[in-house]
Amino acid sequence: MNHVVVVGAGLAGVRSAEALRARGFGGTITLLGEERHRPYDRPPLSKAVLLGDADSSFVDSDLEGMGVEHRAGVSAKGLAEGVVETTEGEMAYDGLVIATGAEPIRLPGEGRQRVLRTLDDALALRAELVQGARVVIIGAGWIGAEVATAAMKAGCAVTVLEAGPAPLAHVVGAEVGARTIPWYDGIDLRLNTMVGSVDPGGVSLVGGGSLEADVVVTGIGVRPTVEWLAGSDIDLHNGVVTDEHLRASLPNVVAVGDCAAWWSRRFHTRLRVEHWDTALNAPEVAVASLLGDESVYDPVPYFWSEQFGHMVQYAGHHPGARLVRRGDPSAAAPVSRWSVCWLHDDDRLAAVLTVNRPRDLVQGRRLIEAGQRLDPGRLADPEVALRDC
Ligand code: FAD
Repeated sequence: MNHVVVVGAGLAGVRSAEALRARGFGGTITLLGEERHRPYDRPPLSKAVLLGDADSSFVDSDLEGMGVEHRAGVSAKGLAEGVVETTEGEMAYDGLVIATGAEPIRLPGEGRQRVLRTLDDALALRAELVQGARVVIIGAGWIGAEVATAAMKAGCAVTVLEAGPAPLAHVVGAEVGARTIPWYDGIDLRLNTMVGSVDPGGVSLVGGGSLEADVVVTGIGVRPTVEWLAGSDIDLHNGVVTDEHLRASLPNVVAVGDCAAWWSRRFHTRLRVEHWDTALNAPEVAVASLLGDESVYDPVPYFWSEQFGHMVQYAGHHPGARLVRRGDPSAAAPVSRWSVCWLHDDDRLAAVLTVNRPRDLVQGRRLIEAGQRLDPGRLADPEVALRDC
């Protein structure tokens, strides 16, 4: 293998280039990136950058020193066996890493809607979060909550419109999501409210009614960036389909990060995880597979969110598992600290979500990895350490 092309210069792409060199690959590495910036991390965009505490979040990686050719501003447009079509012509490869991430879903309408995916998005939005600005945020998911946090801090008049019965309901369920409603103090949070379109000067609601806004931010989720692969022979289904080695359906092609839907041995299902930890760690396995090893990518997925002064962390995968509450969010305490767990039918821990309780997160992640059975009674008692349940 002489030439590896990495498409996508986000974290997963950069980590892939690093992993290739760390494994001793001495051939040519070309890193294609649609964006003109140096590669950067996205989590700080909705935190330090939006809050005005940082202006960038560049990844600390010496691409030049590693002999990686980063082609900024060059996009892949199509794939045929052994060749990537790019905006600057065809590029032959011996090995290909697909790391094109994900892109925000937008709503219909002629009005201006901001999204938050890129550094440019973050800087443009930050400039509009000024004292008194009427900011409508569509979606009370992870991004919506973090944008609302920054908008409140900037003194904006914030409205959050959420289609579900509670913030985060679609990811953690309505009961757990409802525990975060008090965090929206001072925000006009409207649940079960669907936006039909973003119009000049505001938004129109499904079922009638409208709202005026100076700034509209759409945070209703992302979809994997794989349109450029349409028409190629590669299997696509909610992203690039891979096996547990992160190998795609074409020879010498692997996929990593937000765009990859890999087979999880641990959870017996296909997972596509749009979180930083996956972009950080999957490349090592993908690159090993590309170079002929049989490593397996089998993580307990993990992510965090910082919203309204709370550190929210989650590890696991809980569909089909039952909820066990650990601690009372309304208990009087200077800082709210609670967790919830999800148990499989056989009482193995499926997932844990913690609010300002990092110890539960760390111990829970290990217990999930170990596939250990827990005592549901002890688990419900927040005074009992998770590892002793
Ligand atoms: P991306 O970061 O999306 O990078 C893909 C790159 O590929 C992009 O630069 C794109 O321009 C480029 N590209 C796309 N198509 C092409 C093409 N055809 N040709 C060339 N280049 C192309 N996760 C957490 O766990 N915790 C958090 O707190 C958190 N906060 C976040 C906050 C924000 C604002 C955002 C946007 C994401 C956040 N995430 C968080 C998610 C995390 O950042 C992503 O999971 C991670 O960035 C995925 O990395 P990636 O390299 O797979 O994709």
